Amino acid sequence: MKTVIMAGGKGTRITSIAQDIPKPMIPLCGKPILEYQIECLKKNHLTDIIIIVGHLGHIIKEYFGDGSNFGCAISYYTETEPLGTAGALYKIKENLSDDFLLIHGDIIFDVDFSRFIEFHRTRKGAWATLAVHPNSHPYDSALLVTGTDNRVIQWLNKEDPRQYYKNQVNAGLHILTKALLSVIKPLSEKVDLDRDILKQLPADGKIYAYPTPEYIKDMGTPDRYAQVSADIESGMVRRRNLSVKQKAVFLDRDGTINKLNGFITKPELLELIPGAAEAIRKINNTGYLAIVITNQPVIARGETSLEELDVIHRKMETELGKSGAYVDDIFFCPHHPDKGFPGERPEYKIDCECRKPKPGMIFQAAEKYNIDLAQSYMVGDDGRDVEAGLAAGCTPVLLNNAGLAGFVETLFEEKSKANV
Ligand SMILES: [Zn+2]
Repeated sequence: MKTVIMAGGKGTRITSIAQDIPKPMIPLCGKPILEYQIECLKKNHLTDIIIIVGHLGHIIKEYFGDGSNFGCAISYYTETEPLGTAGALYKIKENLSDDFLLIHGDIIFDVDFSRFIEFHRTRKGAWATLAVHPNSHPYDSALLVTGTDNRVIQWLNKEDPRQYYKNQVNAGLHILTKALLSVIKPLSEKVDLDRDILKQLPADGKIYAYPTPEYIKDMGTPDRYAQVSADIESGMVRRRNLSVKQKAVFLDRDGTINKLNGFITKPELLELIPGAAEAIRKINNTGYLAIVITNQPVIARGETSLEELDVIHRKMETELGKSGAYVDDIFFCPHHPDKGFPGERPEYKIDCECRKPKPGMIFQAAEKYNIDLAQSYMVGDDGRDVEAGLAAGCTPVLLNNAGLAGFVETLFEEKSKANV
């Protein structure tokens, strides 16, 4: 598979750091952003690279040459005038592979591309797959709304009204198909990938979102530049790659994140516990994955549908997002073993392997995200959480009155002691 890196844009917002070099050549801990990208691609055997250059492009060409010093084959396309985030693709169409990666040249990432490519290839007939992730300000971000099997069903622009939404932001890594370029014929030479191609796709054009908790950050502002530099130095960027064993804090939901309000059968009943969002935000910043593991027998009992449960979870994500917090995934058990209640759904009335105190959901999460359970925590307010954590080989934590906030404080104390 070929990779196209868009390195032609001018860096306007970050000029206080670098004025006379193209944005992808901005040094981070002594190396240009583009070099980190190429190293990561090389590690993933994605060594056939086309770089789109523009203004000051000669600096990029001189640095990387034909790529042989970097273990890659690099060719260039030079824009004589800016063609937007996708205009150049039409110029180099003949040189592209049927599926190709498209990467913005100003983001730092460390990603296991084999997972991303596998996800794309298992979505039969996909025209494009976009890597997505949660961010700390979903309320004013453009979001992707997805349906069954992670297919994109709606684009929420920054200014669009929104109520309860999944925290799902385009991360800047795309797998596109050459066929897409044949179907969409832009009106001018200057083409914006989102506006002029992806959003113009007919309803049967399939775009998928690939959620990943790996490190992918853009370098849009001086603040982010400082953060990304610190994350490279601390090893956080590399550690989040899913080919590396991950650490997680598994979180029970009811009584841990949201108040016990009887059974939560509709979104109105979901209310966060004070301090829970801040605690989860701290977990997000430690490099631990934050993954919800919750029993939801309300499905088996017929008190809530899967669609309603999805709205409840979107409300939870929306409320967490207001405090800059997010969860990396949600695993729920819809089952319940006891039969014989009015309105119940027999297909869910089974003695399953996922309902806590069984560790099934934790094992599913560990499999999906390559998690080292011995380095992970299962946190909850109930004995079943403790039992599930123990059975999975995690450190179980039964919350006291200090709640999730108290646990996170202890976790940080231990970490800072361990670092001394
Ligand atoms: Zn279950």
